[in-house]
Amino acid sequence: MKVLKFGGTSVGSPQRMKEVAHLILNGEKNLVVLSAMSGTTNSLVEIADYYSKGNTESAKILINRLRTKYHKHVEELYSTDSMKQATRQLLDEIFNRLLTIGNNKSLTVDEEKEILSKGELMSTNMMTNYLQEQGVKVTLLSAFDFMRIDQNREPDTKFIHDSIRPLLKEHADTQIFITQGFICLNMEGHIDNLQRGGSDYTASLIGAAIQAEEIQIWTDIDGMHNNDPRFVEHTQPVHQLHFEEAAELAYFGAKILHPTCVQPAKFAGVPVRLLNTMDPKAEGTMINNHSEEGKIKAVAAKDNITVIKIVSSRMLLATGFLRKVFEIFEQYHTSIDVVTTSEVGVSMSIDNDAYLANIVEELKKYGIVEVEKDMCIVCVVGDLRPCNKGFISAITNSLQDISIRMVSYGGSNHNISFIVHKDDKQQALQALSNHIFNQDN
Ligand code: ADP
Ligand code: ASP
Ligand code: MG
Repeated sequence: MKVLKFGGTSVGSPQRMKEVAHLILNGEKNLVVLSAMSGTTNSLVEIADYYSKGNTESAKILINRLRTKYHKHVEELYSTDSMKQATRQLLDEIFNRLLTIGNNKSLTVDEEKEILSKGELMSTNMMTNYLQEQGVKVTLLSAFDFMRIDQNREPDTKFIHDSIRPLLKEHADTQIFITQGFICLNMEGHIDNLQRGGSDYTASLIGAAIQAEEIQIWTDIDGMHNNDPRFVEHTQPVHQLHFEEAAELAYFGAKILHPTCVQPAKFAGVPVRLLNTMDPKAEGTMINNHSEEGKIKAVAAKDNITVIKIVSSRMLLATGFLRKVFEIFEQYHTSIDVVTTSEVGVSMSIDNDAYLANIVEELKKYGIVEVEKDMCIVCVVGDLRPCNKGFISAITNSLQDISIRMVSYGGSNHNISFIVHKDDKQQALQALSNHIFNQDN
């Protein structure tokens, strides 16, 4: 069986939903993971925000707006009156719950998460009903029956494995299984989620749990491009990536894949294919265990980076200095992305400022501390083993007009990272594309 995940844009309108139905009815038995229709989760976040501020009136205006939109979708999607009515009723139950959930009190964290779960519940019910209307043998699996996170908010992979397999067996004659991405239950049995963009993670966790033949991530672009198409012109799809390369690109900002999504698939040895709903015949990107030698694959950038530098005469010849520094970050649950050291100091980058003040305060016991915000990590991924002479110099040469704050190479064989100011990001990305991939000079 294959796991096919369709993102928000792919199910963003009734027309798109019909196209997705066409793609999943390919004669094979498929398990389909759907996101909420595009824009819906953002609207739900806004609704929760109004409720939490006590502004019930604005929350209700947004809910009714969303209801009107979904009622229109129902009119367009179904051809029979009975299915229109059944689906409207189902959606109305969800909207009625949204209208009462935040009434006259401040919103709890659990209620906020329940609100956020409604988008995937709506899209999957709509798709299931559409396929039913088309006479397809379809089963809607509730993610709440098998997707669970543990006390550390990590997926409980054993529970997922042990729960989903019997569910699939129970419906042996089903052709298409539909389920919700993103949403899950937590250890307390309350509604929770796998973080924004987490439907990719759902697909990968399911693919690993059922040892799928392949996990397909269907989105609005023809695979992983060699640079961020939102900022750079003339990017090209990359046809193949090693799991590690894909993981680095996702972690360092290639939005097409959620950063957590590569690990379960890699661990289970299930290949991941990125495909384009708008152009289903395009080759897309295959992610597997194969390393393509001698090639620089792609560039990505991660925003909102803070650099912390500590300079200390005590570091000179001192053992245990780095341990002390890193322990401070550990104490404040802050992970470090990039590290560079010299004999007198160390610079580190973080993407979470929540405990910045505490960390700086502690670090000041050991040296002079400087903080720079609004930075960005630019990361180049590919076969960057030392035997590929000239690769690193070609990459750094292409950045000759950019002011570079940190460089990190050698941590792995397939990554070099630069830290630049956010204002230089676009120029850096474009320069790398021009010199490495497009070779126009
Ligand atoms: P979905 O809603 O299907 O999950 P996303 O919006 O999360 O889709 O991801 C797809 C988007 O990722 C693309 O439209 C593109 O703008 C963006 N993107 C960023 N970097 C890359 C990249 N290197 N290759 C392809 N797409 C990228
Ligand atoms: N609907 C969720 C979000 O918008 C999850 C996803 O689309 O992956 O974040
Ligand atoms: Mg996404």
